[in-house]
Parts: sequence; C-alpha cells; structure tokens
Amino acid sequence: MNILVINAGSSSLKYQLLNPETQQVLAKGLCERIGIDGKFTYKPEGKQAVKEADVAMPTHNEAIKAVLDALVDKDNGVIGSMKEIDAVGHRVVHGGEKFAKSVLITGEVMAAIEECNPLAPLHNPANIIGIKACQALMPDTPMVAVFDTAFHQTMPAEAYMYALPYEYYEKDKVRRYGFHGTSHKYVTQQAAAMLGKPLEELKLISCHLGNGSSIAAVDGGKSVDTSMGFTPLAGLPMGTRCGDIDAGILQYLMNKYGMDIDKMLNVLNKKSGVEGLSCVSSDFRDLETAAEKGDQKAALAQKKFAYEVRKYVGAYAAAMGGVDAVIFTAGVGENDKTIRSMVCKGLEYMGLKVDEAANDVRGKETVISAADSKVKVLLIPTNEELMIAIDTAALAK
Ligand code: ADP
Repeated sequence: MNILVINAGSSSLKYQLLNPETQQVLAKGLCERIGIDGKFTYKPEGKQAVKEADVAMPTHNEAIKAVLDALVDKDNGVIGSMKEIDAVGHRVVHGGEKFAKSVLITGEVMAAIEECNPLAPLHNPANIIGIKACQALMPDTPMVAVFDTAFHQTMPAEAYMYALPYEYYEKDKVRRYGFHGTSHKYVTQQAAAMLGKPLEELKLISCHLGNGSSIAAVDGGKSVDTSMGFTPLAGLPMGTRCGDIDAGILQYLMNKYGMDIDKMLNVLNKKSGVEGLSCVSSDFRDLETAAEKGDQKAALAQKKFAYEVRKYVGAYAAAMGGVDAVIFTAGVGENDKTIRSMVCKGLEYMGLKVDEAANDVRGKETVISAADSKVKVLLIPTNEELMIAIDTAALAK
C-alpha cells in the first residue's frame, strides 16, 4: 500500500510517498515559496537524482501537481500512475476536542477542522488548503486527517484545565491541548517494542526536543499530561519560543515599551527561547560551539534548557507515580549528547543513570542508560510521516 503523506504550511509543503507495511520510503521532498515564486525539491529513494527546480506555484494546487508529476515521471518517478497512490494522509495541527483520533476526511470532517481554525490560525487554514488541493487533483483517493493534538485528548481534566474562570473553557474552549502528538505516540510505541513490554504496562516520559519542544507523560500508552498548552508557546523554552513565563511580564513590558499584543507575542514566539537568552542562535549546535569558546550566555541557555527538561521529567514521574523509561527524540534529542547528559545529571536519585559511552550516539535507536539504571533512557528517532501513513492505511482499508 502506498501512502502519500502531506504536511502543508502556509507557503511550504512537505511530502513523502511511503509504504507503511514495509516502511519503505519511495520518494520525498519539499515545495517552498508557494505563492511567491516556487521552489521544488524531489528525492526518489535509492536513486541518486535529487531534483531541485523553480516551478511556478501561485497556489498549493500547482505544488501538489508538481509532486504528482514527479512521482509518475518517466525517468525519476517511483510509481507508474497516480492509481498506485492508495490514500493520502494529511497532517493537521489542531483537532480541538472534536478529534481524539485520526479520521477519514468527509465534508463534515472538513467543516469540523475549519471550526478549529481560531485555535490554530497560522496552521489549520494552511492544512485545509493542502487537503483541498489534493482533493481537486485526486477526487477518488481516500484522504485521512492526522492531528497533532489527538493523542493528548486522553489527558484528565486536572491536567488540561487552566485555573481560569470556568466559562473560558465552556464558552471559549480555553484549555491545554498539547501538540507533537504524532511524534509522542510513535516514539512511545517504539519504546515498548525496544523494552519488550506491552505499552499498556509502561509509564513513559517522551521528550520531543527540536526547534519546538514538548514533553509528554504517557501512562499505559495514553497521554496523561504534556508541556505545550492552549498553543505551542507553552512549556519548555525552545529555539525561539519562551515557554512558560509569568503572564504579568506581558503587562509590564507592554506598558513600558508601548508594545501591542501582536508585538509582544512576536517577541515571545520569535525572539525568545535559547536564541533570546544566548544572544547567539536558536540552533543547539551553535550554542555548543559558542559555549565551548567560553560564551557565558550560550552556556546559560544550554543549562536553562536542560534544567527545564529535567524539572518536567521529575514532575511527570510524580504525576504518573513512577517512570519506566525516558525517551529523547527530535533534532536536539536525537543528536545532542551534551543536552541529554545535562538533562539526566541529577536524576540518579530516582534510579536514572546514563552510560556516557552509550550516549555518544546520534540518530539511531539506542538504550543510553547504564545497565544498572532502574529507569531506562532511550534515544528513539521520531518518524511522524510513518505514523501518519500507518493511521492513514488503517482508515483507508
Ligand atoms: P523542528 O521543530 O523544526 O521539527 P527538529 O526536530 O528538526 O525541529 O530540530 C531542529 C533542531 O535540532 C535544530 O534547530 C538544532 O538545534 C538541533 N540539531 C540538529 N542537529 C543537531 C546536532 N547535531 N547537534 C545538536 N543539535 C542539533
């Protein structure tokens, strides 16, 4: 079964054609600068060719058309015709409280996704445009929506409610939703396989540390708490996002500098996090290089990040009444042994010990805890595309 996975943003679109049964990726790539001039990248697996071309993409329709043309291309294509695409899986950021699972897309589902637009005004409209563009070109192919928020719909009310007047939840749907659900779901399933135990019997803490970062407490395969909130701005400090701060700071800074709320949020989303703190970069590789050269602020940013991750690990172990394994995934989690080591230092009291030799690894499934560590520490590369394809195939069958 071949599944086309689409992750549409407002001006870009990532795609991957893969077989979820064999886990084989047939081709993948990226459409960028949609609505501007259009840049197309296509990489068929197993072939040398990487095609990068300027393709006019006034809308997402031309972008999808370029993807389909490339997939069936005589020379560099990977399938004979579009009929060999059995279904399309779309990443959708926000499913609100309506979607606790992936769903086959119908007219009703589209309307419900649109209703979630106010909750993710930057992301959901772009996801919807991607779905409509695919539907226009592939009217007979089943399409599935896979939501970033769905996995966290199992959280209990004490985890998802904010201590605000209840009416804001009832009338306005203000609550913790959480994101990166597809990734947390995938790595916790993989963890169970690595540990050789049923997921239902495991208490896991999944640390998705990338440009955007979130942590999830997963008890028996169900998300019971997560660090991102109503929006992806909450929780950990990230590349450029501040994470949790005292809301009183907003009033103080807005008054002092005459900023309106849009300017303020721009600072919190795009100029804060480890970039804001270090005055160096949002990229953890740059932080490490600068810290090694003696840059104090870069070192502080690394420390702050690791400290906050460590606090969540402790908090979620308390929330679940124990923890069997801590998982590191995404760009930083998979590649940055320094951060992994910094996070875990000081957690020996709860029976968590890293084997530094085993931790000297990048991007492959590895147990990085010491043999006598009661709590296992796992590096598991995430694969959101595969998770989307698996859900899509199951629903399209
Ligand atoms: P996104 O949230 O955009 O999906 P990723 O999960 O791809 O982000 O993570 C990107 C981040 O991963 C980069 O900003 C960088 O900080 C970090 N990263 C990538 N490679 C390395 C590496 N070798 N060492 C440390 N950090 C890395």
